[in-house]
Amino acid sequence: MISKQVLTVLGATGSIGLSTLDVVARHPERYEVFALSAHRQVGKLAELCRRFRPRHAVVAGEQEAVELRRMLSDLPALSIMYGPEALGQIASASEVTTVMAAIVGAAGLGSSLAAARAGKRVLLANKEALVMAGDLFIASLNRAGGSLLPIDSEHNAVFQSLPAGFDYGLKHCGVRKVVLTASGGPFRETPLEKFAFVTPEQACAHPNWSMGRKISVDSATMMNKGLEVIEASWIFGVEAERIEVLIHPESVIHSMVQYEDGAVLAELGHPDMRTPIAHALAYPERIASGVASLDLVKISKLSFEAPDLSRFPCLQLAYDALRAGGSAPAILNAANEEAVAAFLQGNLRFDRIPVVIAETLEQVPTCPLSSLEEVFHADARARDASRHLLARERAFCA
Ligand code: NAD
Ligand code: MG
Repeated sequence: MISKQVLTVLGATGSIGLSTLDVVARHPERYEVFALSAHRQVGKLAELCRRFRPRHAVVAGEQEAVELRRMLSDLPALSIMYGPEALGQIASASEVTTVMAAIVGAAGLGSSLAAARAGKRVLLANKEALVMAGDLFIASLNRAGGSLLPIDSEHNAVFQSLPAGFDYGLKHCGVRKVVLTASGGPFRETPLEKFAFVTPEQACAHPNWSMGRKISVDSATMMNKGLEVIEASWIFGVEAERIEVLIHPESVIHSMVQYEDGAVLAELGHPDMRTPIAHALAYPERIASGVASLDLVKISKLSFEAPDLSRFPCLQLAYDALRAGGSAPAILNAANEEAVAAFLQGNLRFDRIPVVIAETLEQVPTCPLSSLEEVFHADARARDASRHLLARERAFCA
């Protein structure tokens, strides 16, 4: 008999959260939903609570909690909580075996880390947590005896292409390089002079993947790949020099590992996040995810090219931040979140996103990070600096 995994889904109403629950619904004998969280999408969370009957639901604030209670007055046993502390509680509760960390951005760091500190099986989609505090995160997880299963499709593909039981350090596995594939996003071939006029709708229309708005913009600037390079360095214990980015517009090969003997192992599939999610949920077993079989005859051709760093300066900024170490990746992440939010609100031109991030990195000194407080401090300083820069940038959008 399979023992049930008891699951908390952080960010249940988002793209990853919904795909997770889609897979979970296919296997009621394997998963029990303990808690679900959302920020302000109360109506959507109410529907999910009706369907999955969690014991706890967490929302952004008191107002959302009151609204959710009103919508679910016929479910008196459901406990409704709010705020970051409550997110930490549902991530670390003793009943929970598995946490899907799928809150977007720095807002997910506290609860992702709470799951790591509690030694849970952490299914990590919230890449920003690792970018900001990779060292702390991995150390906490190891100390508490938890495990990390990557949800990001590239890292999940690398994980699947590594020998079973590797120890989050590739040095002894005969690995030469980790190759992260990238679609190149919607503007791979757009003339550079048009970058100034890109709208949020164009940036969010990804050719292959359907995702939340922030990661969609990150994919369009290729900052997403930059964040993933940093994420890979922490998950697999591999330095920047051995992480390569390869443009692969079809998004069929989700990433690969090159070995010393010349072999290359890869994971292929449709660009549908339910595959990595199902892999991580069931690991080391395999379960159905609802994703169709890959028809390579129909696809017929796969293509590759090197990334153009003059087109995508964000990728270079991320490599530089990884090499600089300390608080540099946290500063990069904070500046990027501020810049992307401003762009989505119509207050920053698309082509100015990398400029704001680069200037923030120049203005905020990098320092070593040894505690969560120091991470939040670096994050706050970077946000302050980028908000000043963004005030200047608004003039270009008028
Ligand atoms: P999304 O915007 O669709 O969903 C985000 C979720 O987080 C929602 O449930 C939202 O309510 C919640 N949330 C937002 N702000 C919050 C806050 N301040 N406090 C608490 N909760 C908050 O995002 P997504 O596309 O599902 O991405 C989630 C994470 O997964 C991101 O870190 C992203 O980089 C990563 N990821 C996503 C994909 C994808 O295909 N969507 C692929 C790989 C990695
Ligand atoms: Mg990815």
